Amino acid sequence: MRSDGIFIAVEVDDRAAADPELARRLTEACPVDIYAQGDDGALQLVERNLDECVLCRLCLDASPPGTVSVIKLYDDSAVLA
Ligand code: SF4
Repeated sequence: MRSDGIFIAVEVDDRAAADPELARRLTEACPVDIYAQGDDGALQLVERNLDECVLCRLCLDASPPGTVSVIKLYDDSAVLA
C-alpha cells in the first residue's frame, strides 16, 4: 500500500500492512498519526497527515527491515534511511 502527500509518501509492504501487530506498533510509534489501524486490525495510512512527517524514523525502527518506506517527494523521491 502507498499513500502520497505533497512532500511525503509512505509505502508499506501489503503483507506487512495486513499484520495487526505491526499495524498496532506503527500506530503507536508515529508522533503525527500517519498510521492508523482499521476495524479489521489492518494498517491504514492517514493521507491528510502525511506531510506532517518529521522524519523521526520511529516507524522504520518499529517495523521489519524493508517493509516501510518514507519517501521524500520534495527531494527527488529519496527514501528515508
Ligand atoms: S518518520 Fe516519524 S513522523 Fe514520519 S511517518 Fe515515520 S514515524 Fe511518522
